[in-house]
Order: sequence, then C-alpha cells, then structure tokens
Amino acid sequence: MAPQQPHDWIARATAQQDSVFNALKQCREQLWINPKATRFESIKSQLPLTLADIGEASARLERFAPYFAKVFPETSARNGIIESDLIQLHEGSTAVARLFAAEAPHRLLMKCDSHLPISGSIKARGGIYEVLCFAEQLAHEHGLLNESMDYTCFDTAPFKALFAQHSIVVGSTGNLGLSIGIISAKLGFKVSVHMSADAREWKKALLRSKGVNVVEHTSDYSVAVAEGREQALATPGCHFVDDEDSTTLFLGYSVAALRLKQQLAEQQTPVDEQHPLIVYLPCGVGGGPGGVAFGLKQVFGDAVHCFFAEPTHSPCMLLGMHSGLHNGISVQDIGLDNLTCADGLAVGRPSAFVGALMDPLLDGIYTVSDDHLHALVTLMTDTEQLSIEPSAAAGLTGFVWLQQAGTDLLEQTGLTGTLKQATQLVWATGGNMVPEEEHAKYYALGQQALKAKHSE
Ligand SMILES: *Cc1c(COP(=O)(O)O)cnc(C)c1O
Repeated sequence: MAPQQPHDWIARATAQQDSVFNALKQCREQLWINPKATRFESIKSQLPLTLADIGEASARLERFAPYFAKVFPETSARNGIIESDLIQLHEGSTAVARLFAAEAPHRLLMKCDSHLPISGSIKARGGIYEVLCFAEQLAHEHGLLNESMDYTCFDTAPFKALFAQHSIVVGSTGNLGLSIGIISAKLGFKVSVHMSADAREWKKALLRSKGVNVVEHTSDYSVAVAEGREQALATPGCHFVDDEDSTTLFLGYSVAALRLKQQLAEQQTPVDEQHPLIVYLPCGVGGGPGGVAFGLKQVFGDAVHCFFAEPTHSPCMLLGMHSGLHNGISVQDIGLDNLTCADGLAVGRPSAFVGALMDPLLDGIYTVSDDHLHALVTLMTDTEQLSIEPSAAAGLTGFVWLQQAGTDLLEQTGLTGTLKQATQLVWATGGNMVPEEEHAKYYALGQQALKAKHSE
C-alpha cells in the first residue's frame, strides 16, 4: 500500500462514510474490534522483543529491590518489589453493570496500580525502570559496580556524586513526570520534567518540593515531549526518557505480566483458552498498556484478550490503528480537541512503535466519555472505597461492551463460547496520590453525571 497522508485517509474515510471514523469525529463512545488480530503462535517469532527481554527487565528490578526496600520504606512490605494488589470487585461490579443496564460478569478483578508505591500510578513500572537502567549503566561505565554487589550501594556518596553530574529529562501529562522526578531525585540526578497543560497543579508542586525542575507548557503532551527532547539533546550527559518511542519504558511495563501470572496462580484462577483472561487497559500514548499487553501475550498467548480504553476526546491509538497511519495522524487532524478529565490519557498522537507492535496482538479498543469516567470514579468510591483517578476508571466499561456486542463483533474476538466463564480484569492505572480535595471534585462531578444518567 502506498504511504498515506492524514488528509488522504480522512478524505477517503469521509467519502466511504467509515462508521468508526464518524464515531471518532463525533466523540461518540464505540467498541472497535481489531481486524488485524492474529493467533499468537503464528506471529510470535516475528516480534521485535521476547519473553527473555521481559525476564531480563524483571531480573534488573530484583537487583534493585534491596535499594528500594531501604530508601522507599513503603516498598519494604514486598521486599523492595514495586507491585500492586489484585482484588476482586463485588459491589463495584454490580453497580457498574446496573449503571449500563448490563449483567455483572462472572468474575471481575481489578489490578490496583492506582496504589503502586512511590508514585501511585502505572508509571511506577516503566518510568522508574528506565531511570534504573540509566543509573546501572553509568555505574558500570564508571567502575563503581559489579554484579555481586548489594544494590543498596546506589544510596551511597560515590554513586550520588556520579549521578549529580548527569541529568534526566522527560515530557509528561503528569504521572510519568511524577515517577521519573521522584526516582531521579532520590538517586541524585538533576532532573527536568516538561509538563503539558493537562498536568495538575498538585503534581507540579509535589515535584518542586523534591527539587525537581518543573517546566510548564501551555500546549498539549506532544509539544511538552518535543521541547523536553530538544532540551535533552542540547545538554551533555543528559538522558531523555522518550515516552513516545522508548522500548526500555515498554519493557519496564511488561514485567507486570510475570507478576500477574503469579498472582492469578496464587488465587487459583485458571487461564486457558476455555477460561480466557480479558484485560482492559487505559491508553494514553500507548507504552503502559502496550507493554502490559505485550507481556500478557508472551505469558498467556491466545488465552488472554487485551482491549485498550481511551477518552472520546483523545482516541489517538484507535485512530492510529484503524487508519493504519499510527503516529502519522493525530486526533487534532480529525478536528478533536484532545481535552479530557482523564489527564493521564490526554494524548493526541500515539507512540511511534506501540500501535504497529499491537497490530497482531490487540483484540480491540473502546472509548469512554468524560461523564462516564467521572461517574465511575464516584461508583468506585461508594462501592469499593477505592480512590482512583478518571483515567484509571476507563477499564471499567469493557465488560459492558463485550456483553452488549453483536454476535458478529464477538465472533471476531473468538470469545463467543467462552465470554461467560472468562475472568475479566480492569487495570486501574492511577489515583492513590491524588489529594483528597482533588478527589472530592472528581467525586462531585461524578455525582452530577450519575444523576443525569439516571434521569435519561
Ligand atoms: C500514563 C497513564 C496511562 C496510560 O499510559 P500510556 O503509556 O500513556 O499509554 C493510563 N492511566 C494513567 C493514570 C496514566 O497516568
């Protein structure tokens, strides 16, 4: 196929009255099933990253565990491993089902990355991992480290003196900046975080209190990243954490799959093609959900089905995958404003590589309105006493989409005979660090949205 420009694709989609395109353009919620999804075994050998790469990332995090247990006491309960609980939703599941006139699923789990230690979001996986890679590499290059050393040495003067000569830069909608800022400052790096206009004030204040240089932008995420990249290139000894194009970040996220496998086994939850695992992952630029989904496919193959969830105003991955243009098209190109209460997902242009990597692996993507995200935050507070942020609530409507999908759509996912006995899992990606008064605002908006929904 000839390379396309966004305007060519848009003209064709308009002429063909492409229904997915129309729903995107009108900010209507929809479920999109990925026509390129393929049996995992048939494409496994062509993937650019492997299970061994994930294993290596996992081993690196284990080497650093003693360091974390020492300098971040909140990780000591898990011996320095940054991990979250896997819980089963009961009342919450019933309440979401009722809200959307659906039935509560057989088994609805929630992966509480909203409560990950250190930075309270899924970014505590990939973001922290990439900084550790850089720190470890520098320590090796400067002869400070050998493999047999206890990594609590990273908390000593010679290491900190080395890192003080280097800097780290990142562009973020907020949560990645928090993760990178906190770990970089702790290790002793100079660190600059370029924050998009979506970033919440409290995140900037928290970072400044830790000595992080916060650069504020009035534009969206893509611009904040571009400016960060530019600053990094102009600074010797600087590492840029490229959220739009980093396989290191991606591998950090993917380790979650190994941990989840163990947690499911501990809970004696079977995962096989007769008892599939269906996972719903909120998606921004794509690295977080992409890394987790990639890991899950490596671990569970075709027994796992992954769906991404995006805000109706920022459906960059859906647009990129559906058009086939990936990062060659932005939501602004089709007239969307990229404004959403889901600040962690307020991304207009997807990652440079995640969409293409997901082409054969992902089952589909659905979108969620801001009103529904607020309503879901309120429901989770009332029914499960869980404090999550709007971005993190996006996974909660996935089961409704599948239950209410037409037989044709469901058939395409291969879930027709097995949906009823599936384990469904909502990845709650952030929320624990949100200050109480901020959560109260989300909650109040959710109450309004619920009231409006009930009187529909
Ligand atoms: C960043 C983020 C995501 C999505 O991760 P991406 O790598 O941007 O796709 C989801 N939820 C929350 C709360 C986030 O901060």
